[in-house]
Amino acid sequence: MKALRLMLIIIMIVSCFSMVACVADANCDEGHDLNERCVCTRCNQVIHNMGNGCICQRCSAPEHTEEDGVCTKCNRLLSINGSTFTLGLYPQSKVTDTSLIDILNQSAGEAPSYSQKGEWISYGYYKYGAVEYYAWYIDKEYNGEKYRGVIFSDYRPSSTINSGSSSATYQDDNGYLEQTVYWFKYEPIRWSVVKQNNGKALAVSQLILDSQCFYTDRNTRENGNKTIYANNWEQSSLRQWLNNDFYNAAFSDNQKNAIIAESLDNKTTAYDGSYNDYANCQNNTTDNVFLLSYKDVTDTALGFNSSNLRKWSTDYAKAQGLYSSPNVDYKGLWWLRSADSNTSSMVALVNPIGTTGNQYVNTTSYGVVPAIIVNI
Ligand SMILES: [Zn+2]
Ligand SMILES: [Zn+2]
Ligand SMILES: [Zn+2]
Repeated sequence: MKALRLMLIIIMIVSCFSMVACVADANCDEGHDLNERCVCTRCNQVIHNMGNGCICQRCSAPEHTEEDGVCTKCNRLLSINGSTFTLGLYPQSKVTDTSLIDILNQSAGEAPSYSQKGEWISYGYYKYGAVEYYAWYIDKEYNGEKYRGVIFSDYRPSSTINSGSSSATYQDDNGYLEQTVYWFKYEPIRWSVVKQNNGKALAVSQLILDSQCFYTDRNTRENGNKTIYANNWEQSSLRQWLNNDFYNAAFSDNQKNAIIAESLDNKTTAYDGSYNDYANCQNNTTDNVFLLSYKDVTDTALGFNSSNLRKWSTDYAKAQGLYSSPNVDYKGLWWLRSADSNTSSMVALVNPIGTTGNQYVNTTSYGVVPAIIVNI
């Protein structure tokens, strides 16, 4: 009886081995017999010939390795879907779930002040023409999601030179009150493709994501022996903000690899399109994140019109003090990078009705609509 059981076990083991050997290498010891799609006609394995890139050299099929919507090998954006895609995360919708707010408040600790800020970070926002400590944020993760807490001990004036009174800000008009912590969820940034060529796409955020001044001061300044006008894009605080604060908050390292920094034309793109002194004195810049130019948004070949230039804004942008016109469904103004033709302290922008205009650089209540060029 015992011998019989042993024999049965041996037979089972042997048959198991032969079965495995049969499936793994059925008739392919001498090599596979691949069809035009790199599938072996005998064992059905797919054997691509990848070489260095992510495209098979035999059948031309792509084989990317995706992480955060970007291939880790060739740095191409893989999340593109027709003329839109998502890339990066940024605080957008206000959190309204009170139990979640309680949990986030507990993890953030005491509300910050100049002398006791804990983990809160000062925005470095202006009041009376200088940086003051009254606006703070903190980033927290909970249940695999990321959130940003925001508190203002005083209102953020809509111009860098004003006081933080409720009559000088749009924060309270948007429903965000001083001395109160608000939480915003980091959500995928949606982009619209404006132009594609040579494996690159110019894309612009579908929403106004933030509210920032173009430069903190209206006055002309001297840098060494060079005169810098307040409407200079290269030397603007908004260019620094986009390429540091925004770029680092929004994109993972892998996503940054998909973003291409290209030389931007800053000379011929002044408001009204003319070649003038304020544009002529500017250098071209090479930026990861930038603003569209006056020339871009008035170029009909790029498909812009007064309807699609109107932009909705996020809750987070409104909490930062964005001016949201009550007449056109809360569509805000947003900056372009082009200097005004006549006034050194003014820059071009898009109005709430989707037409172009110009405004003072140190206004903090105008929207930021980032643009990027991505590898596709
Ligand atoms: Zn085979
Ligand atoms: Zn192949
Ligand atoms: Zn790839």
